[in-house]
Amino acid sequence: MTDEPLPVTLADIEQATRRIEGRILPTPFALSASLSERCGVPVGLKLEHHQVTGSFKLRGATNAVLSLSAEQRTRGVVAASTGNHGRALSHAASAEGVTATICMSTLVPENKVREIRRLGARVRIVGRSQDEAQAEVDRLVAGEGLVMVPPFDDPSVVAGQGTLGIEIVAAMPDVATVLVPLSGGGLAAGVAAAVKGLSAKTRVIGLTMDRGAAMKASLDAGRPVQVEEVASLADSLGGGIGLDNGVTFRMCRDLLDEVILLTEAEIAAGIRHAYREEREVIEGAGAVGMAALLSGRLGILDGPVAVVLSGRNIDMELHRRVINGAADLFGEQAA
Ligand SMILES: *Cc1c(COP(=O)(O)O)cnc(C)c1O
Repeated sequence: MTDEPLPVTLADIEQATRRIEGRILPTPFALSASLSERCGVPVGLKLEHHQVTGSFKLRGATNAVLSLSAEQRTRGVVAASTGNHGRALSHAASAEGVTATICMSTLVPENKVREIRRLGARVRIVGRSQDEAQAEVDRLVAGEGLVMVPPFDDPSVVAGQGTLGIEIVAAMPDVATVLVPLSGGGLAAGVAAAVKGLSAKTRVIGLTMDRGAAMKASLDAGRPVQVEEVASLADSLGGGIGLDNGVTFRMCRDLLDEVILLTEAEIAAGIRHAYREEREVIEGAGAVGMAALLSGRLGILDGPVAVVLSGRNIDMELHRRVINGAADLFGEQAA
């Protein structure tokens, strides 16, 4: 532990809230009758999967784009993500008249390429892996001066994600526990900084899948470490935290009260509960908070509880199979 201030503070997040106002949706917060009854404390759902582009990533990407200098705007932004960050950055940049370039490998399915183009980005298809796509990003940054907007390890991205935490406390001022999905930690770091800045005693718990949980392994090791990536129903939670992580590792270490891992079957149960009981379609990564409540892994809960439903971008055929009872869709691959 050091006494150095954290890279993102409540003041940064409040500033981000003012900056992105009107560009993102303040998403609804709804009490869940079924989960409140089951848990014995009020449980509220932050329905962030209703955000434009289908995930909270629009908050961070929009704050990052709006924080660019005039000169950086003319150069344009670049990223290698084909998932929710790529979608969000494409939308955020084109909304501001800034050119976004998204680099992806030749292995990325055509529908994902079309989707990113539809959101207004230039697509560069290079190489046969995510690493090769990232190498192209590095070339465009070094050679053409494009500005990379990382998916999580960046103060303006973390501050943008944190605006969701401010909305949670506004909707549930006496919230005692916040459940937040965790991968690279941009969402958890931002939400924890906001929530604890406004309500110091509130517990913030990170949830992730038990397959390839890079942040959990890094927190246990006391430094960023690499883990093997394995297919999961929570595909948006895959990927490492970066061995040179400069923002989110320290924030998650200092701010999260706990990190809990969930099995594929538990995540599937979360998706099913969202659909059957709450009438909501969410992706695996967005289901981990509900999955944790349903699994009983949280022990004695301090209520009221707020649960972040972070995204809805799931393949609808996969969703149908989960709803129809398939639990461990990636089990054989993983074995
Ligand atoms: C990116 C993402 C997460 C994880 O966010 P991090 O900032 O990487 O921890 C969770 N849910 C969804 C839907 C996402 O797209």
